[in-house]
Amino acid sequence: MYRNFTCGALRMDHVGQEVVLSGWVQANREFGGLTFIDLRDRYGITQLVFNMDDDPKLCKHAQELGREYVIQASGIVRERSNKNPNRSTGDIEIEVQNLHILSASKVPPFTIEQDSDGGDDLRMKYRYLDMRRKPVKEKIMFRSRAAFEVRQYLTKQKFLEIETPCLIKSTPEGARDFVVPSRMNPGQFYALPQSPQTFKQILMVAGFDRYFQIVKCFRDEDLRADRQPEFTQIDCEMSFVTRDEILDVFEGLTKHIFSILIDVDLPDFPKMSYDDAMRLYGSDKPDTRFDMTFSDLSDAAKGHGFAVFDQSEVVLAICVPKLSDQYSNKDINKLTDWVKRPQVGAKGMVYVKWNGDGSFKSSVGKFYSDEQLRTWCEIAGASPRDMLLILSGEKDITRKQLGELRLEMGRRLDLMDPHSFRPLWVVDFPLLEWDPEVERFHAMHHPFTAPKTEDIDKMLKGDHETMKSLRADAYDLVINGAEISGGSIRIHNRALQEKNFKLLGFSETEAEDQFGFLMGAFEYGAPPHGGIAFGFDRLCAVMMGTSSIRDFIAFPKNNMGRDVMIDAPSPVDAHQLDELGLMMKPQ
Ligand code: ASP
Repeated sequence: MYRNFTCGALRMDHVGQEVVLSGWVQANREFGGLTFIDLRDRYGITQLVFNMDDDPKLCKHAQELGREYVIQASGIVRERSNKNPNRSTGDIEIEVQNLHILSASKVPPFTIEQDSDGGDDLRMKYRYLDMRRKPVKEKIMFRSRAAFEVRQYLTKQKFLEIETPCLIKSTPEGARDFVVPSRMNPGQFYALPQSPQTFKQILMVAGFDRYFQIVKCFRDEDLRADRQPEFTQIDCEMSFVTRDEILDVFEGLTKHIFSILIDVDLPDFPKMSYDDAMRLYGSDKPDTRFDMTFSDLSDAAKGHGFAVFDQSEVVLAICVPKLSDQYSNKDINKLTDWVKRPQVGAKGMVYVKWNGDGSFKSSVGKFYSDEQLRTWCEIAGASPRDMLLILSGEKDITRKQLGELRLEMGRRLDLMDPHSFRPLWVVDFPLLEWDPEVERFHAMHHPFTAPKTEDIDKMLKGDHETMKSLRADAYDLVINGAEISGGSIRIHNRALQEKNFKLLGFSETEAEDQFGFLMGAFEYGAPPHGGIAFGFDRLCAVMMGTSSIRDFIAFPKNNMGRDVMIDAPSPVDAHQLDELGLMMKPQ
């Protein structure tokens, strides 16, 4: 027997018992005639103690153990004289009688502590050592519990977990596909799924009216801190349901896992239309932990001789509470430089300070009277001591820039507590997005999303301009400014699906080649259906109050999409290429 207890289990109740533990040497220190070893496993750390006076040979043996050696120790549990209240096993220690080395270890390349001294790539290369560190270990364990709770909850609600294939067909919609050459079909390729979308819809046609899957998805996109080329979704689909029934089920799931995993009772999720989100926050994933919503000053500010505003489509403001005393001219200049950075791209920023004594100070004070500035402040709901920050220009661009500035002020004023959670459904997205560069529509969600029932007629009969105003029955769950899940009611009849492909610029043959199987299925009794997919990695990260998903993935890729532990991707040999029909033949 290697152990009869784990390193996280022993308490005062066990004092006097004989125990066997196995684990890794976290620390080894001498103190007077005593040697202490912190023994670590997945469950915790237990202190081992060796006494030179009692057993000098054993004590010497202990002193020689290096960090990360794997050992087995047996002995008697006893009460510690010097207790450690920060450790669950901190009341006891093991007076060791026998010690075996199970496995030696080289000196690890970085410290395996709460905060490591290892750089990112080094820790990724030795991921097995990094995962021994508490912060990483806890995230991996959290993820496992979360997956379990999701399965349990959905299974109780009669969802079936059904697997869908990983080798599927490449389609040009959405992100770039990862492709896999087929040896048996030379010159032909599979694609790895960006999501199981069409398969889950086919499962609805098959009659499995509630499906879910915790599933890997693959997207060959440029990477950012919170993106991985392979990531995991909780993918779900339901038949014979309205939008609100779907939202209710997944609001229930979200509340359940927050409550059971992090003991947070989420409030009911409000719904906000896409239009309102853009108008008030300049973003379709607003962070509603703080207010500072936009006010439109266009009517009040245009036409008074200030050319910048006069030439702008919109003049928009946020009101930052209590900022007018805090921000000096120098701070304002720095903030102006911040909005001018290429990442934000504003040409400038106008401010209005409503001072505590009732006076006004503004960078455009020459052009506007105090009375006019007061009107702006009133429109923006300001009080004395508040400050308006104003951007102007083309509507969509200005909204986006002011959205960035709003988030920056939220960060500066510490209004974004990672452990306070504000969920929100954003609903009624546009169905199509016009891309002026390539002169075609893109599906805002994906091509299988249904228009809102009241817009179906417009979609079938309307002209090109009308198409820009179609609303989709699509929704996103946003928590603290992060998109946690997204989904929609789907099209379930062939004619409407064909029309949608046509609007998206597919020829009849292209639509048939790529999605004929789905449209064909719709001809054999397709139930009305809809669904949603949660970004599982991100959901875990948000619950744990962090923005990086990497440590919730046991073996993540780096920013270049590389797995530095196994060194992938890597070249393959000529023989393999030849077999796959991928050898460049000399001309
Ligand atoms: N398949 C979609 C996605 O990956 C989610 C859905 O519509 O259910 O975003």
